[in-house]
Parts: sequence; C-alpha cells; structure tokens
Amino acid sequence: MRFFPLLALLMGFFPALAQEPGKHELAPCGTPPGLDPFLLEYLAYPEQFVEERSSDTLKLGVQIHLLARDNGTGRFSPGQLLDAFCRLNLDFADTRIRLYFKNEWNLINNTGWYQHQTIPQGIDMMLTNNVEGALNSYFAANVAGNCGYNLPYAGVAMSHGCSGPNDHTWAHEVGHNLSLPHPFIGWEGKVYSFANPTPDTLTYDYTYFHDTIDTQIPAPLDTALVEYVDGSNCAIAADLICDTKPDYLSYRWDCDNQGKSLVQQKDPTGATFFSDGTLFMSYSFDKCANRFSDEQITIMRAALLNKKPDWLTDEQPQGDIEGTPTLLAPIGGQLSPTVGTVLQWSSVPNATRYVVQMSRFSNFSIRELDVVTSDTTWALGNLVANQNYYWRVRPFNDWYVCTTLSPSATFKSAVVVSTSAPDAEGWRCYPTLLTAGQPLTMETPVGWLHHSVQCSVYDAMGRMVWQSNQLVGSDRTLLHLPSASWAAGTYRLVVLHEGGVKTVPLVVAR
Ligand SMILES: [Zn+2]
Repeated sequence: MRFFPLLALLMGFFPALAQEPGKHELAPCGTPPGLDPFLLEYLAYPEQFVEERSSDTLKLGVQIHLLARDNGTGRFSPGQLLDAFCRLNLDFADTRIRLYFKNEWNLINNTGWYQHQTIPQGIDMMLTNNVEGALNSYFAANVAGNCGYNLPYAGVAMSHGCSGPNDHTWAHEVGHNLSLPHPFIGWEGKVYSFANPTPDTLTYDYTYFHDTIDTQIPAPLDTALVEYVDGSNCAIAADLICDTKPDYLSYRWDCDNQGKSLVQQKDPTGATFFSDGTLFMSYSFDKCANRFSDEQITIMRAALLNKKPDWLTDEQPQGDIEGTPTLLAPIGGQLSPTVGTVLQWSSVPNATRYVVQMSRFSNFSIRELDVVTSDTTWALGNLVANQNYYWRVRPFNDWYVCTTLSPSATFKSAVVVSTSAPDAEGWRCYPTLLTAGQPLTMETPVGWLHHSVQCSVYDAMGRMVWQSNQLVGSDRTLLHLPSASWAAGTYRLVVLHEGGVKTVPLVVAR
C-alpha cells in the first residue's frame, strides 16, 4: 500500500462548460493514420507473442494530467474524471486489462495547452509533462479540434466534451496507444461514396491531421489495400486484423440496433456490406460501440507485455467500495458559523480519498467547493452569511472509482460573524458561535508545537462540562466538543499551556 501525502486538490470554481465544443462539433479522433511498428512485428510472428497465462489481469498504471486555464479555471472536475475512468475500465473489462491511477493527478494551469489548436502544441504539452512508467492521459477543453488523439510514444489527449460517462473516445485512444489502428485505416480524411467505384488501394492522408503532423513525424506516404468482404485479403489489407471486418467510414456515423452502419458500402469486387459499429476503434456513435475484437485484445495485451512492461504492476489492487459516507455535520439545516465550519463524514471501507462538493444550489449546478481529500473532514473558508448550503461526498481509491455521491445534506450559515483576530501571541479559537457537532479550530503560536495543552469548557454557572488534554501537532488543532449534549447558552473555553492561560467565551446555539 502506498502512502499518500496529504492530498487536497482545490479544483476551484468552474462555470458551466457551455462554451466548450460538444462532441458532435469535433473530429472524432486526431490520431495520425499509420501502422504501429509493434503491430507489424506481432503480425509477422504472432507465435512469438503467445501468452503463457492469458487469463491473468494486466494492471496498467495511468498518469492523469488535468489542464486548466492560467488562472486555474475550467479544469475537468474530480467527479467527471471518476465517471470517465469508471467507463474506461468497463470498456476494458473483457480485455482483462485493468487500469488504475498510478500517481496523484497532475494539475497544470496553462491556457495555451488547455485549449490547444494544433497537434504540435499537444506534443509540447506531453513532452513537458509526461511521467515515465505510465500511460499519460491529458484532459483539456480543446485538443486540436478533436474528441481525442493519441501520439505514439507520448500519450493520449482527451477533450472534456467527449469524456462523458457514456463516451468511448478514451477507450478508442488507449486502443491506439496499445498499437491498434482504425479498422478503416487509409480512409481517414477521405469520403467514401457508394456511387463511385471503390479503389483497390488508398494512400494515408496525413495532411488531414491539421497539416502539421507530417512535419512532426517524417513518415513516407503509406499505402493501404482496401479490405474485401470475403476476407481473402484481411491479413494484408486495412488494419491487417482479420476479425475486424471491412469499414470505409471515416466520419462519425450512426448504427441500427444491431450496431451495423446505416450506410451500405461496396468493396472493390462489388460485394456490399455494412460497417461494424460495435468496435470501439470505429467512428460509430458512442451508443453503438461496446467492444474490442478478440484479436485486438490479444494485440493490446502483447503490446503491453512486450513493449510497455514498466507500465504494469504486480501490486495488489485496493478493494472495491460499496456505499457512500454518512454525512455527520453540519446537517439537517443546522445553523453554522461563517468562519470555522468543518464538514465531517464517516469513512467508507477501502476508500482512500473523497470528492467533496458544496453548493448554494440543491442541484449543485454551481459548486463553491469541488475538491479531493484523503481526510474525512474539510475545513471551509469563509461562508456568505445567512445562506443555505448543500454538500455531499463521493468515496474512491486508485483502483475503484465506480462509486456514487452520498445523498446531500444542508446547513445554513449564521448571520453573526463568530471569530476575532489572533491575540498578540498568535492564538485564537473559532467559531465562538457553536452548533451541535461542530469542532472548534484552535490556532496556536509556533512555540506551542509538540507541547500538550489542557482544554476545559465551563458553563455559565462555572461548572466544568468538558476537559481534554491535546497535543499540538500543527498550527491548527481541531477541538471536538460534545456540544450536542449541552443546553443553549454561554460557556467559556479555558486553555492551560506552559506559559499561562487563554480563555474565550463560547455561545451554543440551537
Ligand atoms: Zn482513432
């Protein structure tokens, strides 16, 4: 089990993504056409790549990079990433390749990369940020006008607009990364027409890919044979993979309820057929695609085992997660201070991290908080007074993200400001207006670190109602008072330390 340093990713406030291009405005894929050298190696001597234990799950590490503008806005939210990663693993379930978050997510603020117009900008982004030993995946608002693309030897770029919970572009691009071509290779950028005779060969059209890719990869013009319906040339035509049938459609296309294209095509011999839209590597609509072919699966596994073994781990996966956390405080419309309110929830078995969302809208359409933490508490910043707030929590770990958000809880921020400036030594305690279950935050001078203090609370009659010895472990200590069992009224906190005594009045509200 790896140790996670305190992870607190402030993802910031993000407005609706309406200004970003939707998937129907984007080119499906910007991966340049071509046959991966490993694919050619594999197909020449497939017997050299037979797996001894092909039923083993291959555990593939993924490095996530989340782009935002220079000012930190616009980033793909934690929940969106978890939904996309859940879908990716569902799409790969039949391959016996399981993908996991290898490292912490890399947050990058760079407007130029966040909405890059050209592939060379994406190359620059990847060469600058790639991490060794993992499949690097980048999420940005615009990835050169595509839903996604894969750069050989670099990584995968994904647009936010094509990374929804039911989209398969990520699976498609990871397929490219693991040596798979399009089944319609050669037709990229060309329009098939049933009315014209179908040619026997096609030349890969690199210029379609934003006319700059061929300056990056000095590839010679390659020629592809057009695949026949009868399978007679399947091993030397198109993608060279025989269990992916002919497909000449290089634009986004719709399918019937069998997953077949609505467009009828004709091979060079005159035989007619419909394309197979169930393949992730085709350009069919997301609703049509649900699989890799058996041969595609064998090739991807061989590519991983032979060319990218350092992306694989023998590490034991973290366990699956069931259920959601119970929200502990503040809940039930409780009145909470505008300063010092701490969200608290129960831990969930196997969860190592939590997404925490808070909004002033019950539908969470605009979120004031959308963060990831490894704790089961989150100390809020200043709240707007006299407002309803809603919050909820989603558990996950590096291996299991197909989880859901908890039901939301609500609280109301108080009208009263219940804090004061630190005293001359730098000590203060807040909020002084307490609601049931809310901890107090005590800020302490540097000299108190690693020393014990005795904290006591007295009621208005001078009776001690609580006492606890606390070790000061940082400049902020949370004091968990059993205030839920106290009557409303005034109290006094007394903190005894080596140098003397600090006191502050408290008000318990109901
Ligand atoms: Zn593609």
